[in-house]
Amino acid sequence: MTVDAATPHGSTEPPATRRGTLPVVEVFHSIQGEGTRTGEPATFIRLAGCNLRCLWCDTSYSWTTEGVRAAVPTTVEDLALMSRERAVVLTGGEPMLHRRRLPELIDRLRARGVAHVTVETNATLWDPDLADVVDLWSLSPKLPGSGEVAEPETIAAFLAGAPGRVQLKFVVTQPGDLTAMWALLDTVDATLPPTILVQPDGTRSDYDVALRELVELVMADTGDWHGVPRRSLIRVGAQVHRVAWGPAARGV
Ligand code: SF4
Repeated sequence: MTVDAATPHGSTEPPATRRGTLPVVEVFHSIQGEGTRTGEPATFIRLAGCNLRCLWCDTSYSWTTEGVRAAVPTTVEDLALMSRERAVVLTGGEPMLHRRRLPELIDRLRARGVAHVTVETNATLWDPDLADVVDLWSLSPKLPGSGEVAEPETIAAFLAGAPGRVQLKFVVTQPGDLTAMWALLDTVDATLPPTILVQPDGTRSDYDVALRELVELVMADTGDWHGVPRRSLIRVGAQVHRVAWGPAARGV
């Protein structure tokens, strides 16, 4: 895999595109495969570039040099025309690299009848101007098994800026990740969403084993969170699209 030169690791600037366009890796229509809206038909708009490099990334084609070069510069008008479901998911890569253009895109989507917009983000970039225009912020902060580092201040900004419209979703790939997750949440705030979603490494070929291992890890946790058993706050989930189409499929 070639490391992307267009969005260097850690850069919070979007990859360059023609003026007035967004770099689109793919647009597809499928069901939401994970999180609290699992199973809902949606149009997915995947934007190019990412400021992180997670070891288990299942969409590296969105930020490699080749992936960024292959992205199609697309106007917000055209993206709105391509959206055919009532729910739209803006994903990546890291869609918040493109935060300055998202209000206009979401405006156009609403004008086309889109009723619900989710932004899937690694929770390292926040923009208070976007807080009210997004229906669901799906945060996926990174744990040590990813090789990346979460940013508690930014996660706290999402929770405070969009109360009731945030879900927290963690990929847990090693026993220390669960401990690190609770330590991170302790740093962030005691007022969290009602559920903490966790899921296994979607790139593992033995996905069923990875899922069983995660369930066993959660059930073995005897800690508590401000007087509540920690495991009672967790919901273990599998990626439905991963189960249905396997780890290598795109556009599903
Ligand atoms: S933040 Fe998401 S897109 Fe970026 S490297 Fe990590 S998993 Fe991949």
